[in-house]
Amino acid sequence: MNQRAGIYIHIPFCERKCTYCNFNTTDFSGELAEQYIHAVAHEITYWGEHLKQGIASPRVDSIFFGGGTPSITESDQLARLVAACRAAFDVDADSEITIEINPGSFSRPKVDGWLNAGINRASVGVQSFIDRELVSLSRTHTAAGARRTLDLLREAGFENISLDLIAGLPEQSLEDWEFNLREALAIRPEHLSLYLLEVKEGTQLYGQIKRGLRPRPDDDLTAEMYRMICDATGKAGYEQYEISNFARASEGDRVSSLRSRHNLKYWTGAPFYGVGCGAHSYDGRARWVNVLKTETFIERVASEGHAIAERHELSEQDRAAEALFMGLRLKEGISLDEFHSEYGVDVIERFSADLPRLADAGLIEQSGGRLTLTAAGRLLSNEVFVSFV
Ligand code: SF4
Repeated sequence: MNQRAGIYIHIPFCERKCTYCNFNTTDFSGELAEQYIHAVAHEITYWGEHLKQGIASPRVDSIFFGGGTPSITESDQLARLVAACRAAFDVDADSEITIEINPGSFSRPKVDGWLNAGINRASVGVQSFIDRELVSLSRTHTAAGARRTLDLLREAGFENISLDLIAGLPEQSLEDWEFNLREALAIRPEHLSLYLLEVKEGTQLYGQIKRGLRPRPDDDLTAEMYRMICDATGKAGYEQYEISNFARASEGDRVSSLRSRHNLKYWTGAPFYGVGCGAHSYDGRARWVNVLKTETFIERVASEGHAIAERHELSEQDRAAEALFMGLRLKEGISLDEFHSEYGVDVIERFSADLPRLADAGLIEQSGGRLTLTAAGRLLSNEVFVSFV
């Protein structure tokens, strides 16, 4: 595998838990954050040294601070982690370095600090431009706060901004969603992540819906919202390059240069190394995940250098199945010939029991030697993917 690798750095701290969130988070404390950053830097160094014992240090072209709320930490703490990555790995000078940001969790000096550290892409968790919806999600910001944040990032010099919104919230009407989408498009960010809400077991929202306190999101309405997303983003000049991800494109661009380089690693089977509590990694042969709890992570790294909780060696069959359903998430889908030469699998023959049914249902299509999801297939992608596992 000669693709560049990515590094994912998990920052678990949040001011409070959002109602729909099942990510690995913990309450923010300045003292714990400092111990944690120290441990993550140590883990980065460990992996740099460990991987160098292989053939060569992997070349890296993306670093992603995700969470949690990375923007809650001090900018010099993140700068130390970028420096640790550069010292431990062979990091390209023009790497994409992204920070996930919650509106309102920072000020201008912090933004300047991120830019000075080499962070060049901001992914802003706006989620909604309607205050009533933000309150119902337990978000800590307002719509006005999100707009101020976006202005501040631009003024400070961020030239690559991504914005997240969630569609299909309980009580959200089609008009509400249309408003959110229009507001986001009017800002003209370089990138948009537009997700349909998934109500995950264990979240506050799941409990609220189960107890009848909130309505369950309506599938037909959500489907209508998704169609609106695909239509409106296309008209506004965004390339839908993945099921929920859209990159601004210049006229005539077949492939936007503003696709998320880091997230493409997950969909194209490129290696990525995750550091921090609960972070996942993949090196082309195995997947592993770190311990979830922040304090346990700090202890494990202090004693062992890493904090792996579980490691799974992938069989050829696992690799092929993953490559198939991850590749299908992308607009280009998969090349049947390339897939055959990489994994030794004739997809048409292997899945001959399911492909005709999925094609007849209008969910997939085969053309020019490629297999892709249709617009309907993107909406019902989970139903397509279960056929391949
Ligand atoms: S800010 Fe993000 S990670 Fe933190 S609780 Fe809310 S959704 Fe979860």
